[in-house]
Amino acid sequence: MEVDFLIIGQGLAGSALAISLIDLGASVLVLDRGDEDSASRVAAGLVTTVAGKGMNVSWGQAEYLSEALAYYRRLEGVSGEVLFHEMETLRLFDDEKQRIKFLKKRDQLEGWVSDACEGDFVGWNAGYGGFLMSGGGRLDTKAYLRVVREMLGESYREGVFTESDIELRDDGVSWSGVSAKRVIFCQGARGLFESGLFSYLDHRCAKGEILAIEMPGACERRVVNRNGWMIPMGGGTWRVGATYEWEDMSGSLTEGGKGEIEARIRAITDMSYRVVGHTAGVRPIMRNSQPYVGFHPDHSAVGFFNGLGSKGVTTAPSVGMHFARHLVFGSAIDDALALK
Ligand SMILES: Cc1cc2nc3c(=O)[nH]c(=O)nc-3n(C[C@H](O)[C@H](O)[C@H](O)COP(=O)(O)OP(=O)(O)OC[C@H]3O[C@@H](n4cnc5c(N)ncnc54)[C@H](O)[C@@H]3O)c2cc1C
Repeated sequence: MEVDFLIIGQGLAGSALAISLIDLGASVLVLDRGDEDSASRVAAGLVTTVAGKGMNVSWGQAEYLSEALAYYRRLEGVSGEVLFHEMETLRLFDDEKQRIKFLKKRDQLEGWVSDACEGDFVGWNAGYGGFLMSGGGRLDTKAYLRVVREMLGESYREGVFTESDIELRDDGVSWSGVSAKRVIFCQGARGLFESGLFSYLDHRCAKGEILAIEMPGACERRVVNRNGWMIPMGGGTWRVGATYEWEDMSGSLTEGGKGEIEARIRAITDMSYRVVGHTAGVRPIMRNSQPYVGFHPDHSAVGFFNGLGSKGVTTAPSVGMHFARHLVFGSAIDDALALK
């Protein structure tokens, strides 16, 4: 089999790259081993437009997000399925200091937030008030990955890629009967911390655990955000998370992670709940928590797209198209995204 590009991994990175390459007229084969604990399968899929204790809008968010939403809407048109669910987020302040900080920087957040509000928090322990964020929502990542697989058809193959079986030539690569001009590694965290061609790169991968709970007493339809998030999934079910853990890269479920999330639930509400699910995955985080694209220093036929961090839903479509333009037309890679 001959293709222009062999893509290893069909998470958010490999999916966006594959669709972009096909849009530009290239042929691809995407190989994925279907890790159940891959970040893209586990992720909450949230787009939170004002994030963290500092309440900041991410760098490049306006551009990345509008391109991402257009991309997901286009796939919704093709598949007839809703993939991105627009949702408001209710951000609750931790304390008075945080409320004052918000009031001071409110103008910089114009377009993404409401004014600070005092009421409207039925069911939540919200003594310091909060604000509403708009422009975000939740990507159903599992449905999205399935839709991309269906669109790829015969250009998708389930299987395990092994680096030792790759043959690097001057004019391309061969692997297991597949000949390609280039192979592009989109393996997520495992491509950074497992031994391999790109394991020389620095990373700060972080494991995250998420709980699924039933909380029938809650009538909230917005995402609730304070030191983590709670997402209403419908039918009284919620997803709650996520932890950050920098040592254990196993993707295993821990009592410690579960306890940490439950403590957050109890801090935010007195409503009773029941844990009905527990998942974990590892976020691929690189320098400056940014994505990077480029090539192996010794093998120009071996490409790389990784480092989507905690914001893969927002950044993957734009960065995937940016890299695809480079791969197909030779356009320059933005310095900020270039793997060095
Ligand atoms: C708990 C948690 C919560 C998160 N929440 C959010 C969120 O709310 N919003 C957000 O934007 N982001 C979130 N993220 C981050 C987001 O999930 C990642 O940025 C994104 O999924 C990374 O995608 P990826 O394609 O780079 O990697 P992955 O999703 O890890 O995909 C890599 C793929 O490569 C395959 N693969 C690897 N090695 C091989 C091989 N040798 N052969 C074949 N296939 C291989 C794997 O099976 C996998 O399918 C979260 C992550 C975690 C862990």
